[in-house]
Parts: sequence; C-alpha cells; structure tokens
Amino acid sequence: MSSILIRNAMLIATFDDESRIERNADLYIEGQEIKAIGPQLQVKADEIIDASRMIVLPGLINTHHHLFQTLTRNIPRVQNATLFEWLTTLYPIWQELTPEAVYWSALAGMGELLLTGCTTTTDHLYIFPRGTSAELLDETIRAARDIGMRFYPTRGSMCRGKSQGGLPPDDIVQQPDEIIRDSERLIQTYHDSKRFSMCQIALSPCSPFSVDEGVLREIAQLARQHGVRLHTHIAETRDEETYCQQVYGKRPLAFLESVGWLGSDVWLAHAIHLDDGELSQLAQTQTGVAHCPVSNMRLASGVARVPRMLELDVPVGLAIDGSASNDSSDMLGEVRQCLLVHRLSSGVGAMSAEQALRLATRGGARLFGRDDIGSLELGKAGDCILIDLNQIGFAGALHDPLAAVVFCGSSHIVHTAIVNGEIVVRSGRLTGVDEQSIVEKVNSLGGEMVRRATRRTGIDVLKHR
Ligand SMILES: [Zn+2]
Repeated sequence: MSSILIRNAMLIATFDDESRIERNADLYIEGQEIKAIGPQLQVKADEIIDASRMIVLPGLINTHHHLFQTLTRNIPRVQNATLFEWLTTLYPIWQELTPEAVYWSALAGMGELLLTGCTTTTDHLYIFPRGTSAELLDETIRAARDIGMRFYPTRGSMCRGKSQGGLPPDDIVQQPDEIIRDSERLIQTYHDSKRFSMCQIALSPCSPFSVDEGVLREIAQLARQHGVRLHTHIAETRDEETYCQQVYGKRPLAFLESVGWLGSDVWLAHAIHLDDGELSQLAQTQTGVAHCPVSNMRLASGVARVPRMLELDVPVGLAIDGSASNDSSDMLGEVRQCLLVHRLSSGVGAMSAEQALRLATRGGARLFGRDDIGSLELGKAGDCILIDLNQIGFAGALHDPLAAVVFCGSSHIVHTAIVNGEIVVRSGRLTGVDEQSIVEKVNSLGGEMVRRATRRTGIDVLKHR
C-alpha cells in the first residue's frame, strides 16, 4: 500500500465541523485514506512532500459541468447571446459529437479542473446524436479513470425535440425507452456506492424544456429503485419560467414538485429565479443547489440567492457549469467569483473566503450525499490540494493564508493534487496524461465539429452575430 507524507505545511485547513486549522503540521495518507494529521508525525512514507511554503486544502468538488462543451468554448456567434440563443446555435455543433470527441473533451475539462484544485467532478452529458454510439457517458468514465479523478457522471437526456414543442433539434434527442434502458445499463455497469468510490452515477434529464413529464416521473422512479441521485437544471432564466407557465401552467419548481423531483436525493443546477416560498421549499425538502456563478454572470442569467439559501440551510455546492458558458473550468477561480458576486449583490458581509471555500468542499460533498470527501479528517479519503504561497501573487498576503487563496493569486494552478491517495498533479503538471496531446486533440476535434456543422447548416458560427 503506497503512502504520502505532506511535511510541515504552513497551514492545513481541514474544513471539519469546527473549521480546525493546523499550522506547521503534517498530513499522512496511507492507501486511499487520511491516517494522521498533526505536528511532526513519526511515520515513514513512500513519498514525502515538503509543504513549508504551502497551504493544504481538501480537494474541491465541482457539482455541475458539461465536459463535452470544452470542444465549443468561446464560439464568436454566441459570445454575447442569452441562454436560449446560445443553446439553439450550439445544438447543431454538438450534433457532430463522436465518442472520441467526448473522451478527449472530458480529459481536457478534467485536466483543467484538477490543475485548479478540483479533485471530484460531476458531468452532465445530455447530447446523444443519432447515428453515433449511444454509449457516450462510458467515454467520460474512461477519461476519469485515465486521469485519476473522482467522478460523479450523470446520465443526461432530452426527448422533446423541436417537432414536439421542445428547444433542441430532433436529431439529438432520444426516445424515452432508449433513455431508460441506457440509464439502467450505466447504473448496473458503473455505479459503486462503497466508501471511497471513484464512480457514482446519477440520472439527469436536461431541463423542463427538453424532457416530457412522463420521462421525468419514470426516471425519478428508476433512480429511487436503484438508490442513485437525481439532477437537472432549473430556474436558470426568465425564458424557462415563461416556458413552464405556458406549457405546464406552473412555475419551474412547482412543476418539478408535481413530477416527484424534490427531495434530499435531488440537486438542481442554477436555482436563480426562485421566490421566498420556493427557497423555503428547497430547505424543507433538503433539495440541493449547484451554484454556478460564472456561467450565470456570463449568460446574464441572474444571481442565485445563495446567502439566503445558506441562512435557510438549503444544501448548496459550487459548480463550473459547461465549459462553453463559463468558458473555463477554473475551480479556484469559481470560488473567488462566487465570493465577489454575492458581495456585489448582497453586501460586503454576504460571504467570507472561508464560506466560499466551504461551498466548494463540504457543500459539494453534501450534494453528493458523501461523508468520505470534502474535509481533511482521519478516515476520510486522501483527496487534497497543495497551493504554493511562495509566489509573487501572494506576496504580502500571508497574514491570512486561507483567505489569500481566494482574495489573491495571479494563477489558480495548484502545486499538487492528490486523489484517493494518488498524486495526479505534481509541480503544477498533470501526471497521468500528456497535456499537450489533449490540447492538440481537443483543438482539432472541436475545429472539425464546427466545420461539419457549418457545412450542414450554412451558418458561420465563427462570425459575431
Ligand atoms: Zn448546465
């Protein structure tokens, strides 16, 4: 069994229930598990990391993402678009998705996440184009194994194409029975509910404007039968609210409630346009929220009322959202933006650096129903990140090293990332994969998808609208 000793860390922020901080302390990981934390541990280890210039944090947890969108970041035609315009322009490009493109884009998204401090991510894959293999989520799971990331893939789905009054083109939606069959296959093949699990599946119909009521009900039933979680987008824009009122005669959250989609086994991305009663309903049902501040600012969707949610004890985690609506997968950057946007909208006391980091650690673990990740404590998984504070971006900021990683720093690349007791980022580089090949592959596959879509639709997405 391999072991790692992090020696003499400037500071270890445990994010345990007492927010315990250790200074000039060691952290020892044996196998998958944290075995000791304290000053001058008398243990031998296979690998010793001198952390005297570093802060140690639990690995960050990303609770919403669309890794395939790494292929279509920064498309000129939708740089200034609203969500619905953005979606309808990008759907035809995503229609060109192949298993190879899914694999490489997942590696790129996960690589960027690991480099910026995230050790557990989810993915919400909801594009299953006709004419290509439907076993696409399998490719993201293969990527997570290759790069060494803890993974919570969710099987997305869309069944209401344009001809049925939905938003997506018919060529990227599936029949309800195909969705149910593949969801069941994925749970049986990959879902591991054991402690320290590296892969757990959830089911995630895309949104109220792309899935039928019946499918939502059936998927909820299937998830509960297998003990897996449920995830979807809700209350992201006013357009969605109008759609739900027109089609279902209900506001988005009331619609979800009507199909059995509120509860502690459900977490929802965005949850922006909710009134006081709806926030209380989330708290009462312990339905979780994946908060995506950068995407929400990027698409001008609005500001989720996270400080109020925290007062009410709504479970909240932090999230990147898709690479194409962020347009990065910079997890430490997301923590900083989270703090800033809530201060701007609710006042300077609305969120502290420690609270923003807590959303990205314990908050994420709570949404995934996991007590083995999200904090540095004995018996928890060996998931942690080391940030080198001996950099010009932190000069003059060491009065409070923990807050420094949110308020300061000109690069969010961590020095080391450890997942399940394995070093996956060493000296700011990914260890398990070749970063340059990922960059080249994603550039070439993404470029090819755009060219094929342009030939098919005649719309040049490389021109600004
Ligand atoms: Zn999303």
